[in-house]
Amino acid sequence: MHKHLQESALQRMTRVVAIANQKGGVGKTTTAVNLAASLATAERRTLLIDADPQANATSGVGIERRALSASLYDALMDGEPIDRVVRRGVHLSYLDVVPATQDLVGAEIELVNRPGRERVMRGVMASLKGKYEFVLIDCPPSLGLLTLNMLTAADSVLIPIQCEYYALEGLSQLLNTVKLVQQNFNPALAIEGVLLTMHDNRLNLSRQVAAEAQEYFGNKMFGSVIPRSVRLAEAPSFGKPILLYDVQSVGAKSYLALAQEVIRRAAALPAAPATALAVGEALA
Ligand code: ATP
Ligand code: MG
Repeated sequence: MHKHLQESALQRMTRVVAIANQKGGVGKTTTAVNLAASLATAERRTLLIDADPQANATSGVGIERRALSASLYDALMDGEPIDRVVRRGVHLSYLDVVPATQDLVGAEIELVNRPGRERVMRGVMASLKGKYEFVLIDCPPSLGLLTLNMLTAADSVLIPIQCEYYALEGLSQLLNTVKLVQQNFNPALAIEGVLLTMHDNRLNLSRQVAAEAQEYFGNKMFGSVIPRSVRLAEAPSFGKPILLYDVQSVGAKSYLALAQEVIRRAAALPAAPATALAVGEALA
């Protein structure tokens, strides 16, 4: 009885967050890996799903792609139970990972002819609900069927924005896609938050992007900002989240702070499914 209660409480709490921006190189994977590790360090059961054929999150946590017997592709396209694809306790006991391989390139094409092609991932995820407090999905840099599947399977979308020229360009396209998913496949999809990455406070440009993003997104902006940090860029080549590579670095501290913010926001959510937020209006 007690166990049952605990499980149903956990079930309510599972939050599936897709990390998406069709723009390349904005810090999606860095955020997915390091936010996942930070949540796991805070003893939140966390699953990191690599949904990008580039498989950067997979190698970023030190999983050898060539040694993989099963990946997200098998769960998505071949009906392999996702439980059998999950790698448990990756670096941290609270961190599990669903790895990706290049096979996923094929999924993007093969999905086209599937009935209910946008909802395949949602079906795959059903058995995971309740087993984790947080599921983070690293999306590829496109708005194709893989990303549509991830948004349809998610409770919310976290949007990293690189503090660079043209940072906000293309965001209205992303927000339109979110709206399309809300209208057609997943009415409860919310905006988890917008995250500034690679921020350099000494640069006028960074400050400008921050101010503009604040204007568009208001309270959807995360208070935590990820600074540009060489240590964050180095960590993946050692197959480690920043916390295990250089815990003292500003990068590690900023992702730990982001994790606390994500935990606080999740705790403040109503127990019932959140109502869809009106998104995209600011940029309309
Ligand atoms: P893609 O669209 O190709 O999947 P992405 O959005 O996942 O890219 P990342 O791979 O996370 O972006 O980051 C792009 C590059 O920038 C990587 O080389 C990464 O190491 C580096 N990088 C990410 N965040 C930071 C940061 N805060 N400081 C310095 N370098 C960073
Ligand atoms: Mg990436």
